[in-house]
Amino acid sequence: MKFELSKKTQSLLDQVTEFINKEIIPNESLYEQQVEEGGRWCVPPIIEEMKEKAKKAGLWNLFLPESELGAGLTNFEYAHLAEQMGRSGIASEVFNCSAPDTGNMEVLVRYGSEAQKDEWLSPLLNGEIRSAFGMTEPGVASSDATNMAATAVLDGDEYVINGEKWWTSGAGDPRCKIIIFMCVTDQDPDSPRHKRHSMILVPTDTPGIETRKMMHVFGWDDAPHGHAHLKFDNVRVPKENMLLGEGRGFEIAQGRLGPGRIHHCMRAIGMGERVIEMMCRRGQTRVAFGKPIAQLGGNFDVIADSRIELNMARLLTLQAAHMMDTVGNKVAASEIAQIKVAVPNIVCKIIDRAIQIHGGAGVSQVFPLSRMYAGMRTLRLADGPDEVHRRAVARYELGKHAVQDDQVESSEVSRS
Ligand SMILES: Cc1cc2nc3c(=O)[nH]c(=O)nc-3n(C[C@H](O)[C@H](O)[C@H](O)COP(=O)(O)OP(=O)(O)OC[C@H]3O[C@@H](n4cnc5c(N)ncnc54)[C@H](O)[C@@H]3O)c2cc1C
Repeated sequence: MKFELSKKTQSLLDQVTEFINKEIIPNESLYEQQVEEGGRWCVPPIIEEMKEKAKKAGLWNLFLPESELGAGLTNFEYAHLAEQMGRSGIASEVFNCSAPDTGNMEVLVRYGSEAQKDEWLSPLLNGEIRSAFGMTEPGVASSDATNMAATAVLDGDEYVINGEKWWTSGAGDPRCKIIIFMCVTDQDPDSPRHKRHSMILVPTDTPGIETRKMMHVFGWDDAPHGHAHLKFDNVRVPKENMLLGEGRGFEIAQGRLGPGRIHHCMRAIGMGERVIEMMCRRGQTRVAFGKPIAQLGGNFDVIADSRIELNMARLLTLQAAHMMDTVGNKVAASEIAQIKVAVPNIVCKIIDRAIQIHGGAGVSQVFPLSRMYAGMRTLRLADGPDEVHRRAVARYELGKHAVQDDQVESSEVSRS
């Protein structure tokens, strides 16, 4: 794995970093103020202003590997940009690189028909609309995606959709116009488990969609993005809205998730960097018992461990990205699962330590740490809980060292 970046990537990285430092971080509190003034579920004008500037500067759709649509970077190259974007909660949207739009655009690029691309991909690429991804359901354990129970039934030229989804992130944004909806299209329980589900495009203004509530994360509503609990009651969409074909939902999901996990993890690492910075600044400027807090008790260890663990997390993530680029998502599956467990756990721990160093202010609204913690804690669940990814890693390891039946000691033998 080579660490040097190409001239093009280094130049993009420098530009993105400078843009974040000069244009985005100084506007974070204005953004929050505008969300508040707009009644929370609004489009804060500052975000559109910043998007326009980023677009003009050519810092736009950087995540897309297709050079004619995006920057044409590899996963390894884009990972460095994603890390910078993670330093601010609003940066990735400014560059049109935020979830779930990135994954949804990738789905449309790879699997969308020409008509679907014209209608939905173009405005997403232009940053005119936003999107959501509806997989998780309140009624079933959704960490096993084969449990998804919402249905789409063909009736003439239309699919009729019924069911409930929750944690549909981004559905609170007034610009959210389209949901990629995962549902059962083959109702026969004896059909192969991974061939029964499909993905279908559901415009958010279709009659029959009801917002039951906006979900909270430890009390945060995450407005204006938000996570919606939606009910779909006889929602009718044209049959042309089916993506790729009936029964191909899992095939699409596989393609969608790999790059998204690299993006999530690298953004998390960027957040971890900002948290270490906050920890060090506060630790050196506040004095207790005659010494800066950083020099008290075990705080040297706290800071050092945070640095060591974050660097380990970055290396593991870059390795996963490099493997995706060189041997493909399938061979890199264990590494992708590893980062999905390691990175949010490490960054959660670092934020928790920073909260401790900040004292009471750390859990308050004065610093962004409690919000960062809430966001990072959810990453141990969103896109599949830790245990599901650990299971994938363990199964891979067990498979590498598989033993024959006759090598297994019987309980009689092992007791003697
Ligand atoms: C902030 C946030 C945003 C989200 N955004 C989206 C989104 O945009 N779209 C979307 O579709 N979903 C989204 N999700 C949902 C997320 O993907 C699910 O919460 C997750 O997949 C787990 O499903 P579940 O909540 O039904 O948990 P369940 O399936 O009920 O699982 C509960 C727990 O069971 C345990 N468990 C499960 N499997 C195993 C196993 N194999 N071994 C051991 N223990 C196990 C785990 O501890 C797990 O946490 C979001 C969630 C959050 C919190």
